Amino acid sequence: MRKILIFVFCINLFSNVYAQKENKQKTIDSLTVDMKISEGLINTFTNDENKLYFEISENLLGMELLVVTRLAQLPGNYAGYLNAGSKTAEHVVQFEKHGKKILLKEVSFTNISDEEDPISNSVSVNNFKPILGAFDIINSESDKYLIDMSSYFMSDSPGFNIVRSYEKDNYKIGGVDKKRSFIDSARSFPQNTEILHTLTFTANKAPRGNNTKTFSFQVNHSIIALPENPMPIRYEDERVGWFTVNKINYSSDKLKSDSYNIIRRWRLEPSDVGAYNRGELVEPIKPIVYYLDPGTPLKWRKYFKMGIEDWNSAFEKAGFKNAIIAKDPPSKEEDPDFSPEDIRYSTVRYVASTTRNAMGPSVSDPRTGEIIESDIVWYHNHLRSYRNRYLLETGAANPSARTLFTPENEIGEMMRQVIAHEIGHALGLPHNMKASSAYPVDSLRSGTFTQKYGIATTIMDYARYNYVAQPDDKNIRFVRQLGPYDDYSIEWGYRYFGKSPEEEKEILKNFVDEKSLSPMYMFGGYGNDPNSQTENIGDDPVKASLYGISNLKIVAKNLKEWTIEPKENYNELNELYGELIGVYRRYVYHVLNLVGGIYDTPHNENQKGVVRYVNVDIDKQLQALKFMEKNLWNTQNWLMDKSLISQIKAEGVLGSLQGLQLSAFNRILSVSKLNRMLSARESLEGDPLSVEELIENLFKTIVKNPENPDLSEQRLQINFVERIDELMGEEKLNPSIKSSLLDTKYKIHKLAKRRGGSHYKYLKSISE
Ligand SMILES: [Zn+2]
Repeated sequence: MRKILIFVFCINLFSNVYAQKENKQKTIDSLTVDMKISEGLINTFTNDENKLYFEISENLLGMELLVVTRLAQLPGNYAGYLNAGSKTAEHVVQFEKHGKKILLKEVSFTNISDEEDPISNSVSVNNFKPILGAFDIINSESDKYLIDMSSYFMSDSPGFNIVRSYEKDNYKIGGVDKKRSFIDSARSFPQNTEILHTLTFTANKAPRGNNTKTFSFQVNHSIIALPENPMPIRYEDERVGWFTVNKINYSSDKLKSDSYNIIRRWRLEPSDVGAYNRGELVEPIKPIVYYLDPGTPLKWRKYFKMGIEDWNSAFEKAGFKNAIIAKDPPSKEEDPDFSPEDIRYSTVRYVASTTRNAMGPSVSDPRTGEIIESDIVWYHNHLRSYRNRYLLETGAANPSARTLFTPENEIGEMMRQVIAHEIGHALGLPHNMKASSAYPVDSLRSGTFTQKYGIATTIMDYARYNYVAQPDDKNIRFVRQLGPYDDYSIEWGYRYFGKSPEEEKEILKNFVDEKSLSPMYMFGGYGNDPNSQTENIGDDPVKASLYGISNLKIVAKNLKEWTIEPKENYNELNELYGELIGVYRRYVYHVLNLVGGIYDTPHNENQKGVVRYVNVDIDKQLQALKFMEKNLWNTQNWLMDKSLISQIKAEGVLGSLQGLQLSAFNRILSVSKLNRMLSARESLEGDPLSVEELIENLFKTIVKNPENPDLSEQRLQINFVERIDELMGEEKLNPSIKSSLLDTKYKIHKLAKRRGGSHYKYLKSISE
């Protein structure tokens, strides 16, 4: 036995040595005989036995290659917000020759310096590139190197990030089972190489409905050559909202590691610079092209195309015509290579999923911010959100919204605007939640105004519908659309100057100086600015929400009539009622955010007469509290129509409506809000409400005013005492607030003592 083993061992050793010797003499041609070759950026070789070779040419060594990894197919119910087309990784790599091996390394562009600057040595050694893979050179040629990439693509290799740690832990996902994994295809084109492979993982705790303890994914990697001549960068100006790439420059003259942002944008260059400079509209050398997903239902295609090409009017302000083009997916005959995962095609993916959303991601050159490709995602069930919201928010003033079967042209118009919003993201624009506060509330009731200007200055605000317009208002626009801010921001980001980034920075600064303080062109993120709220419209949250609630009361009265189909059940009514509560809640919260609010107006030093952070005025805050007394603290009986609730809720809705009041109450008396109010009143400009005044107001409106409190009002009073006790125990609450809290508890106690009945007896006992 022993002998035989040694014998076998010897044979193996011999054959290995022999094989190596053999390989040394083997050329690429002899090694890849019978394999399928695809020539392009990287010449690839594949066969039916899961082999994948890369031929690394001399000029590919050191080239910066962007790798984008996406899921092409994935298991059902695997993870929210992951779908076919989702990106799992995006990074830059480089092949390097290291002795007899080819290394695959990751490259970062965050920390930079001038190459001639001695500090570049330090930047380099302090940013050592991680090695993602090391591959033996298996051929004999000395000017091109054949490497075997099979096992790299037969597992979840470094840089792929296919299984995220959350799902890995959650489903107890193990390693890749190579017997059930495949290299599907390798296709090369002049600028990119596409690798498609299938990986199968074992899952010890697979989700319900998956009895196979298996997850399979098909994954696409796009390897693309970064542009040879990098696009000129454009510096960020925080007064105009833009997606950015961060850089740290160690060669800067500033006495620090100079951190700055450059914007992410497409490369648009005039095809005729002379004509462009004369002010003529000129086509770009390379327009932005979006293909529709082959799965897009035919009846919606025209709305998708309009949503994409709507941006042309904004690009015209920047001097370009036909800058963005929507196309149907090509047929097999027109383009046999077409695949939505291929980096050369930007697409609008149509995803059959129950998710109610849409997304606008993009891929950009990390050196310059140049957007190279983008895949917008539309989830089919988003239609449902739009149908419901349209009915609830506009139904009172808009007869055609009073149905579950929204007319096709109107739902199409809403899809068009969603696509336009997502395209906006893919053009580089983030949300601008301040935009909707530019228009006076009463203008939103005007037909001529809304038809011309829409309902917010940009499509990038979450201003979805016009909920302000009242039943007798005429010719109103109810759905959002692009506005003047979009023209302005696109011009700022895309106007071509042909000058250095530094020179352009000055020109663009002046452009913004003139505009950014006009409400039409203001930009604002989230923060505590009541003018930068999501899903509100108009310049006055109190007035807008009063109109909104007045409309919602009409909708509540008619909800049964508008949503129950003959001989059908009440499921739709139930869903709509639930969302109606959500709409009511939003209107209330828009007002609540005025309390302790701080206006934020980004500007530069030379824009005189402005202060960045200012407290919301006391009168405005008191107005908000008055609104809340009437529309939140007082019981909202219109939300509890027995004839409606009795058809849909087995346990009624008292508890959930009280819960809504309570969460608003706890929010207004949150530690962070109270501390902020105290700090901002002492140290920021403006004349705001004090914490004492807020607590006194709540005491009056919640405890003192209702003479005969009903169940919900009693519960709020009890909650008030409980909240005071909680806050007294909060270490983080500024102690100077605690005395007025204690004072209030004492007042509640005294008042409860004076008033009779069992509720006040209880209130008295807990406020002891
Ligand atoms: Zn968005």
